[in-house]
Amino acid sequence: MSATDALESTLRAQLGDTAVLTAREDLLAYAFDGTAALRQLPRAVVFARTAAQVSTVLRLAREAGVPVVTRGSGTGLSGGSVPVPGALVLCLVEMDRILEVDTRNLTLQAQAGVITQQIFDAADAVGLFYPPDPGSMKISTIGGNVAENSGGLRGLKYGVTRDYVMGMEVVLADGSICWLGNKCVKDVAGYNLRDLFVGSEGTLGVITEVLLKLLPKPAARATLLATFAQMDAAAGTVSAIIAARIIPCTLEFLDRKTIQCVEAFAHVGLPTEAAALLLIETDGHPAAVDDEIGRIEALCHEHGATTLKRAADAAEAARLATARRSAFSALARLRPTTILEDVTVPRSELAKMIRFIEETAARHRLEVATFGHFGDGNLHPTFLTDERDAEEMHRVEEAMKEIFAHTLTLGGTITGEHGVGLAKRAFLQAQLGDASHALLRQIKRTLDPAGLLNPGKILGAAGAAEHPTSNIEHPTSNG
Ligand SMILES: Cc1cc2nc3c(=O)[nH]c(=O)nc-3n(C[C@H](O)[C@H](O)[C@H](O)COP(=O)(O)OP(=O)(O)OC[C@H]3O[C@@H](n4cnc5c(N)ncnc54)[C@H](O)[C@@H]3O)c2cc1C
Repeated sequence: MSATDALESTLRAQLGDTAVLTAREDLLAYAFDGTAALRQLPRAVVFARTAAQVSTVLRLAREAGVPVVTRGSGTGLSGGSVPVPGALVLCLVEMDRILEVDTRNLTLQAQAGVITQQIFDAADAVGLFYPPDPGSMKISTIGGNVAENSGGLRGLKYGVTRDYVMGMEVVLADGSICWLGNKCVKDVAGYNLRDLFVGSEGTLGVITEVLLKLLPKPAARATLLATFAQMDAAAGTVSAIIAARIIPCTLEFLDRKTIQCVEAFAHVGLPTEAAALLLIETDGHPAAVDDEIGRIEALCHEHGATTLKRAADAAEAARLATARRSAFSALARLRPTTILEDVTVPRSELAKMIRFIEETAARHRLEVATFGHFGDGNLHPTFLTDERDAEEMHRVEEAMKEIFAHTLTLGGTITGEHGVGLAKRAFLQAQLGDASHALLRQIKRTLDPAGLLNPGKILGAAGAAEHPTSNIEHPTSNG
């Protein structure tokens, strides 16, 4: 029996027969995540229910020299949970219990496999609020959100997942289990290791529990949908709102192509001739919300909005928000492959960046639609393509390289929320610089000396070389 066959039978003995999948038809579903054109069959999939079981898996994998790719729901958009060759996928969806809602300290403690929407609902049920709301929240896990430091539609006012992580339980590469953080609002004891694991994409340890900060639920909210005949007018409106010292909780943007697709998909009643749409939401004390939404409406008028629609009630607000929330699904219907990008620029550069994306797509004869979190400067240029057409895929890759390079010249970042994973690893060093990139490698080597935790993700080829089997090509397809 080979060392890895022995690993599988030991895992079955320790975790139970049904906790380990090895049949090809079972593995197929774990060969990819939400990222287009990346696939790799794992060696096996193992489901853990406790931190002790995660520890056993990591210890046994380390003894056998087998890489481990941690997985939540697999909705990631940068290839983070795509297996590396020969890897064991460690899936945490069965760690799905909310452990405590503490209404005195305003915290919630949950296992890593709890679905994000359930965190929101558990807080909401006691009059509290968990703000991070990635578009995937009905399926993504809280562990995946923390590992990617996910953002959402409320990021402008409320920040991203990192801003709500007070503590976590992590299993390290050698199988040891540690707690980082606590319920204290203030704590400066030692290095902030908790923050190191937020956004670490499964490369430094396995997050098994999280302690989250909750807020009081806002008493009122107002939603406004504004359309513009020119992109620059929409960008100017956003600048004017921020300059007026108003911070809406949501300030989302759709370009013309996205508006047309969403309307064909969701029938929200959007004007399909508009060049740009803004979805704006403010929340808080009823008097403040009333004041803010009135001032925002006036600024939209001043900056040339062609239509303005204020939601009359919560049901209409939800319908208007559908316009933004269904953007990805609506676009995904058009062509076989949807490549959703995630560049972020300082807000002052948004109009320039959108123009560059459109020019670049036209130059490469590509179909692109752009939407995103305008208030955060976070754009999702979405290429509509077909991964079976190698020549067109090559043009998409060339266009994306130009877009990433331009993003950096505008002072931006190659990813605002989807992470580096496999998809962006080739571009990270250009953004960080040599010294910072080398520091990341040092941290990885310290926490994972054998290079077995999600090898090759974030750090690219040299990081991948830490383990001999991690030679993923981009794209791979044996799944
Ligand atoms: C339709 C759609 C809309 C989306 N909208 C948004 C959005 O608005 N904002 C946004 O930020 N993202 C968005 N995403 C991307 C994605 O949903 C997030 O990155 C999400 O946090 C991933 O969660 P997951 O449970 O699916 O994790 P996975 O995809 O399974 O894993 C993501 C990464 O985290 C690691 N990981 C997962 N769990 C753990 C753990 N417990 N411990 C250590 N590492 C772990 C994996 O190894 C991998 O590197 C969207 C995706 C889709 C498909």
